[in-house]
Amino acid sequence: MKTLVSGGTVVLENGTCAADVLIGANGTIECVASPGSVAGADEEIDARGLLVFPGMIDGHSHLNDPGNTESEDFYTGTCGAAGGGMTTVLEMPQTIPLVDTLEAFVEKRGIAETKAVVDYGLWGALTIESVSDESAMGAMVSEGAIGFKAFTTDSPEILLIPDNLLRTGLARAAELGVPVGVHCEDQEIITYETARLKKLGRNDPLVNPDSRPPVAEIEAVRRVLLLAEMTGARVHLAHISLPESVELAREAKNRGVAVTVETCGHYFEFTREDTGRIGAYAMCNPPLREAAACAGMWRLLASGAIDTIGSDHSTYTEEEKGTTDFWAMPAGISGIQLLFPFVVGEAIRRGIDPSLLGRMFSANVARVFGLYPRKGVIQPGSDADLTLVEPGAEWVVRSSDLFTKCPGTPYEGHVIRSRVRRTIVRGTTVFLDDGSGPGRITVEPGFGQYLTAGKATASQARPGAGR
Ligand SMILES: [Zn+2]
Repeated sequence: MKTLVSGGTVVLENGTCAADVLIGANGTIECVASPGSVAGADEEIDARGLLVFPGMIDGHSHLNDPGNTESEDFYTGTCGAAGGGMTTVLEMPQTIPLVDTLEAFVEKRGIAETKAVVDYGLWGALTIESVSDESAMGAMVSEGAIGFKAFTTDSPEILLIPDNLLRTGLARAAELGVPVGVHCEDQEIITYETARLKKLGRNDPLVNPDSRPPVAEIEAVRRVLLLAEMTGARVHLAHISLPESVELAREAKNRGVAVTVETCGHYFEFTREDTGRIGAYAMCNPPLREAAACAGMWRLLASGAIDTIGSDHSTYTEEEKGTTDFWAMPAGISGIQLLFPFVVGEAIRRGIDPSLLGRMFSANVARVFGLYPRKGVIQPGSDADLTLVEPGAEWVVRSSDLFTKCPGTPYEGHVIRSRVRRTIVRGTTVFLDDGSGPGRITVEPGFGQYLTAGKATASQARPGAGR
């Protein structure tokens, strides 16, 4: 069956144009043609008034499966992704067991296979164990790992990796041709500030931003960029929260360092003060920053200095987020279904070109993780992954309308200024919002397919075509 997506504004890598998209029977794009010029489709999807984006790729989500499925699993998490316009998710390794062995990797892949409603790839963890076992990273890559996640700070699931082992792991990842995503915050600074604030008797939501000051991120970014430069590894700076960090990465790129920058939707919108006002559901690592940093991130987004935007969707139960010990509060924001419509609505309001958004949410992510051009672009031969968005459609976030199991989000009550109307994966509609309700999933669990990365050299993987 051939499907024509007609009458929409198609978001290409270098601009937008009025065009129809013909989807072939095999679920790939057959052609992009002038409006009204294609005949012979069996089905037509009316995209008038909608932006037709290449399917969004969330390069950074935590779906908690296996191990913490009371707060999310591969079905609910990918339903949220589909509802938020994501056609692919790349899932992080901090599940139980930690995905730093081949066995854990294969186990998770088997779980995802039966539950996912969008396509998915899996990260491995770069830990003391997976670096010390010389064959572990290679074994995970041979099973399709799209990259490795490392920490310069302790997290509940992964301890920080010492610089010497990070250096070894980066060199190995470079040989294997996959990127390393790094959580950049310096543990010594956090440890010092934590002790100082505890001595003052502090126990409030603001201990999250106050114990993890900007210098902790900036110091770690500098160090990781140095190690990337010395090893030749491709480094993807995860969830960068500060303009200073983006600027450091830009300088490094100009020197030829293979670095890409990811940020998250919440760093554009919420501030340190919001952490105090909202509390548990706004506590995250790195933490929310001052309003000036949000403004700086918008400026850098508009300039094209940010490569990708991920959700860092991290969910917890009401009980976990209900603790009154703010030092023990699990950090993480639920946002997989909101990130894309929020950023698109705000960006368009600010006059930012949709093609820049398409690159950050799709093409650049696909390039970093070796999925391009199968994913990330609307062109003949690519998978027919499309996100149909109504720009300017205003709606108010209610957590109860979202697919996630997580009961709260800092976006609660927020006005979002664009709406995902339909999400199409390989030619099949997986999410449909026809205006009659919050929208529904239209495929069975297990529809999503497992993606493995094509090997890419540092220069091939560098985003920015069309910048
Ligand atoms: Zn994360």
